[in-house]
This record gives sequence, C-alpha cells and structure tokens, in this order.
Amino acid sequence: MSLVPAFGGKSLRQRSSLKLHEDSLRALNCKAYAKPGISRCKWYYGVRCSTNQFRGYVLVDFSFSDEERLFAQTLRDYARNKLKPEYQKWDSGTPYPREKLRELASLGVTGLRVPEAYGGVGASYVMTGIAAEELARGDYNVTLFLQLSAMCADIIVRHGNESLRRYWLPKVASGEALFALALTEPGAGSDAASITTRAQRDGDHYVLRGEKASITFAGSADACVVFARTGPIEHGARGISAFLVPLDLPGVSRSVYRSAGEKLTQRGSLVFDDVRIPVDYRLGPEGTGFAQALSGFDYNRAVIALACLGAAAESLEETVEYVKHRQTFGKPLAEREAVSFQIAEHLTLVSAARLLAYLCLALCDRGQRHSKEGAMAKWLGPKVAVEAIHACIILHGWLGYSDEMPYVQRLRDVIGLEIGDGTPEIMKGIIARETFGREFLIYR
Ligand SMILES: Cc1cc2nc3c(=O)[nH]c(=O)nc-3n(C[C@H](O)[C@H](O)[C@H](O)COP(=O)(O)OP(=O)(O)OC[C@H]3O[C@@H](n4cnc5c(N)ncnc54)[C@H](O)[C@@H]3O)c2cc1C
Repeated sequence: MSLVPAFGGKSLRQRSSLKLHEDSLRALNCKAYAKPGISRCKWYYGVRCSTNQFRGYVLVDFSFSDEERLFAQTLRDYARNKLKPEYQKWDSGTPYPREKLRELASLGVTGLRVPEAYGGVGASYVMTGIAAEELARGDYNVTLFLQLSAMCADIIVRHGNESLRRYWLPKVASGEALFALALTEPGAGSDAASITTRAQRDGDHYVLRGEKASITFAGSADACVVFARTGPIEHGARGISAFLVPLDLPGVSRSVYRSAGEKLTQRGSLVFDDVRIPVDYRLGPEGTGFAQALSGFDYNRAVIALACLGAAAESLEETVEYVKHRQTFGKPLAEREAVSFQIAEHLTLVSAARLLAYLCLALCDRGQRHSKEGAMAKWLGPKVAVEAIHACIILHGWLGYSDEMPYVQRLRDVIGLEIGDGTPEIMKGIIARETFGREFLIYR
C-alpha cells in the first residue's frame, strides 16, 4: 500500500508531521488516500476503510479558512461584548426581545442555512457549528435561535413548495419569523415513531389534533414544523408527515414550563385543537416526515455539542484566570497540581469532543454519512461540558456556587441538551446500530 502523492507532487507524509501507520492500516484492510479538499481545506488526511465494521471515511482537517476565522472572531467579539453581560438577565424567563433577535439576524445567525436566493447566508454546516460554539461563549441559549432557524430552514428548503420557501425563508433569515420544531409528545419522546398527534385530510386541508410537549420556543415561536400521524399507528415512522403550521391559526394554544434552565427559550407545550392547515403546508410527501426529522437531527447534534463546548471553554478560560490569582496557604491555586491537572484534563476532553463535532459537520458538508459521528458528538459534547462547568464551580469555591457568577446557570442550561434532541442512551443506541447493524437496535 502506498500513500497517494498529492499537492504539487508532495506526498501526504511530506506535508504533515502526522504519520499513518501502514501496518495498522493494512490490518484494518484500509486504503489511505488523499485528494484536495473543498476550498476551506488546505489538505487533509483521509482513510477509507473497506471492511463493513470500519465502513466510511474518516477525515481530519485542522484548518479553518480565512473567512471562517473572521466569522468566528466577529461572533466571539459580539458574544463577549453584547451577549455575555446580559446572559444572567435572561435567566428570569422574560421573553427575549424581538429587536435582539433581529440583531442576531443582522449578523447572519438566523439565516445561516437559508440559501442566498431567499435572503440568507447559505453557510456550510461547519460554519453553522462555528457560530454555535462562539455565541455560546456569551450566551448558550442564544444558540437555540440558530439551531431552530437552521433545522427548520433546511426542512423547508428540501421539502417545502416554492411559495412556502418564498414566504417563510426570508422571514427566518431576517429574524422576523421564529420557528419551533415539534416532535415530542407527553407519551412519546425517545420513541418518537409512536406519536399520536393526528393530521386528518379534509378536502384541501388537514385537520390537526394533538399535544406536543417540551417544545423549545413554544411560548414565542411564530410558526412550527409539526410532525403528525397521517397513516395508521401500525405504520410507525412511515405513517408520519411534517407540516408547516403558523402558530396564530385558530385552535392553537400554548403554555410555558417552569424549567431548571434554558429559560430564555420559553420551552413548553403546544396544543392543536382541530387546527385547519392548507394541504400546501405539508412538507414533502405523506409518510416522509420522520425521515426528514432524523436527517435534520444528525448534523444538529454536532451543533448542540459545539454550543455546550463553547460554554464550557469560556468557563474554563475564566477559571484559568481565577486560579492564577486566588491564593490559599500562601500560593496561587494554579500552582497546585490538583488544580492545574483538573483544568488540563477538562481542556483535553473539551478539545477532543470539539474535533469530533467538527468531523461530523465536515462529513455532512461533503454529503457523507455522519449519523454515527453526530450521535458520538451529541453524547460526548454535553457530557464533557457538564463535567467541565461543574469543576469550574468547585474551583471557584463558594463564589462559583453563587448567582454572582454564571457557572450554575451554565450548568443548568447545558444539562437541558443532554436530554433534548436525544438522550445519551439513545445516542449510544445509534452508535451501536451503526456499528452492529439494525438487527441489534436498542429501540425496537
Ligand atoms: C431542553 C430541552 C429542549 C427540548 N426541545 C425540544 C424541541 O424543541 N422539540 C421537540 O420535539 N422535543 C424537544 N425536547 C424533548 C426531547 O427531545 C425529549 O425529552 C427526548 O427525546 C427524550 O424523551 P423523553 O423526555 O420522553 O424521555 P423518555 O423517552 O421517556 O426516556 C426516559 C429515559 O429512558 C431512557 N430510555 C428510553 N428508551 C430507552 C431504551 N430503549 N434503552 C435504554 N434507555 C432508554 C432515556 O435515555 C431517558 O434517560 C426537548 C427536551 C429538552 C430537555
């Protein structure tokens, strides 16, 4: 096996200090390959594995383009100067002002996944992840505006008709329309294929009836992508369709939960009491809704991970400064190995989880399978973030546990997305499914 020469006649080995171990690759029945990446990559290593167990591509790309770096810096400055000073203010549960949402929109945040032709940015998935990571340094909850706008825009672009696209996508990009996505019900969360909300066809309309639970932005969204049953319950996932539902229609009611965290997002329930929706508002053919939901969740799982890791990275950086100055027994805390090694460990885990999330997004940008990487990132990212922020609380002593500091709020906020968009058990089930095959599903 030889490494394919690339990039001006230089082999991969000449271009990087990273060495691929040929014997290990041979043992895995792998072929190493190299080819120029898309414009954002300078070069990358690719390992193509041909055994079933190691099917797929593993890409390692360590460079952001100049455009991506500039975007990250702009959002980091915005997050630190504008979002961070107000982060704790929104923990009271007061609705987020619409002018602030429009401010985010003016930075491109709500239009990242809206194509330019509809007034958006048309950004890559990697860029979407960068935005989540940077914004979360100032206010983790603000990334939920990004996530819901991106996921719903993707669904509308792929499955909406042209008049829906022309009407709704510019509103998403400009921050005029806030979207929610409603799959979960009181009786169906992880087992989402068993939802019972029904959309009954009645001439040119569907009549929607049922209750959705734990919906981010239930209290404030203007419209919602709603998943409802159009086929019999025995059809499971294949009997589910998606609809774009304006939330000012007669028969829609909402309530906001008292929640431990993520209060800015007004999470709550949506009840549909014989709500009439035009047939044109169905997204894609009948019975394809569940597949749409799943394809959106895969990449957003990495975006969630990066939001959690952004909040953790900011906490760790603040804690590094704190322990350099806080003295006990005549010495700064940073001189105690018990302290500095804790930080070293959390920084390492945060960096590893971050790379995994970007790997998922890079695969998604290349149109490659990324379900496994998305599930890995979604399990690892929030877990690592929770553990890091918890350590930051302890390392600040009583001060860290007080409301003077943002750490307890960050912890409460981040824990929410250990559950939302799929729990750790369900993520491990997906990793196992992708490894062992469908006959070993944990959710059947
Ligand atoms: C902050 C937050 C935001 C959310 N936002 C949204 C939203 O915008 N839209 C939306 O539709 N939903 C949303 N949700 C709902 C979320 O997707 C569900 O809570 C989640 O999918 C889990 O479902 P559940 O709460 O019903 O738990 P259950 O499915 O009842 O699971 C309970 C526990 O059992 C475990 N479990 C379940 N099945 C298995 C199994 N087969 N094997 C092993 N363990 C299992 C789970 O991992 C979990 O620990 C949100 C939730 C939170 C917390």
